Amino acid sequence: MSTVGTGSTGSAPVLRDGSVVIVGASLAGLRAAQGLRDGGFSGSLVMIGEELHYPYDRPPLSKQVLAGTWPPERAVLADRRRLEELGIDLLFGRRAGTLDAEARRVSLDDGAVFEADGIVVATGARPRRLPGAEAVHGVAVVRTLDDCEKLRARILEVGPGCRVLVVGAGFIGSEVAATCAGLGCAVTVLEALPTPLEPAVGQLVGDALGALHARHGVDLRTASAVAAVRGTAQSPDAPYEVELAGGEVFAADVVVVGIGVVPNTEWLEGSGLEVADGVVCDEGLFAADGVVCAGDLCRWTWRHAGQEKSLRVEHWEIASQMGTAAGRALLAGREHAEPFDPVPYFWSDQYGLRIQMLGHPERTDEVAVVDGRLDAEDGKFVAIYGRGGHLTGVLAVSRPRQLMAFRPLLVAGASFDEALEVLATKG
Ligand SMILES: Cc1cc2nc3c(=O)[nH]c(=O)nc-3n(C[C@H](O)[C@H](O)[C@H](O)COP(=O)(O)OP(=O)(O)OC[C@H]3O[C@@H](n4cnc5c(N)ncnc54)[C@H](O)[C@@H]3O)c2cc1C
Repeated sequence: MSTVGTGSTGSAPVLRDGSVVIVGASLAGLRAAQGLRDGGFSGSLVMIGEELHYPYDRPPLSKQVLAGTWPPERAVLADRRRLEELGIDLLFGRRAGTLDAEARRVSLDDGAVFEADGIVVATGARPRRLPGAEAVHGVAVVRTLDDCEKLRARILEVGPGCRVLVVGAGFIGSEVAATCAGLGCAVTVLEALPTPLEPAVGQLVGDALGALHARHGVDLRTASAVAAVRGTAQSPDAPYEVELAGGEVFAADVVVVGIGVVPNTEWLEGSGLEVADGVVCDEGLFAADGVVCAGDLCRWTWRHAGQEKSLRVEHWEIASQMGTAAGRALLAGREHAEPFDPVPYFWSDQYGLRIQMLGHPERTDEVAVVDGRLDAEDGKFVAIYGRGGHLTGVLAVSRPRQLMAFRPLLVAGASFDEALEVLATKG
């Protein structure tokens, strides 16, 4: 057993010269390490990562790296030198198999065991598989650098006019569709819901964002649930067939599935942590004494401007902020950790437009368009969301300055009526 600490500090803070094991070597895990070091932690930091890469950024995978405008190295978040500067002992290609939260003991699949004063759980999420398509060779997802490189290689191999079929018009599916269209592919997107992105942005805005696809030559089919995906190895001219529940069949050279993610929590079975679509944490990000979580797998109690929700968010900015906060929380100790209560933010780049959202609206919230039009030819608009008279969110398409004008109102928990006036007064 590698004992890097005592593994027994109860709810007390991790001491500056103590020990921390971070499981998951991606955005949230790296930010946790940075948060610890920035907070004065000088002790031992071990990071365990299943992938064989330095920690890298995922957003460029469906955008610049897939498009070929960035070399993969540009997505790296921390190379060997940076890891050394941070004093992180990164164990590449090693998988944590179990956690004993009370003992703060992590056991790896290869038999190695680590005990520490604090544990950061940051094992993220993986793509949800399309039922029935799991066994079909070559069906793509985009979560890792390896996924992205494989997909790009296949598209280049087929060449211009490559028929790409994207299953799912969520943010990742939509970005992949936009990037592939930019590469000269013939792209079809199949979405099971009548309105793409409706759970995240509501029906009105979802329809407006869905319309971007047609405007850029991508065939978006809504209310189109996939019933079967077949690999047709005997027919190299159409290696895949995708059949809708209604019987329509699409031939494709490439099939990409983007139907959401599932948190990587299986290794925590028997750990003593509560798992319910993510690891359940308190508002200070503690899942147990001495054990914090961060990133896509964390479900925490978000209290903000009179709202209280159990949230699990799968976006970059939250994973980044949460990692930093989780590192700091270990140093503060469970009783004194600051509540993690940011204004959620995300962005998505599609067809040269930047979609940005602040806040956390519900799909049924009231919506008002306060700048541009939902059907504007240039695709640009700003919409605000409200519930019970309060401003709950803002979505802007290529209007960053206007979006940010609403931030102070979201922080302060302003009323919907006040928000309606913001752009009128700022011009
Ligand atoms: C293609 C793509 C594009 C995106 N674009 C945007 C965007 O434009 N805007 C936005 O806001 N967000 C975007 N996101 C979301 C953002 O990248 C994620 O929110 C972020 O990566 C979450 O970071 P994380 O560290 O929590 O998890 P992950 O990045 O999922 O990292 C978890 C790491 O833990 C490892 N791991 C898992 N299990 C174990 C184990 N048992 N032992 C050891 N290691 C393990 C995994 O291999 C992985 O490396 C995008 C995501 C993807 C995939």
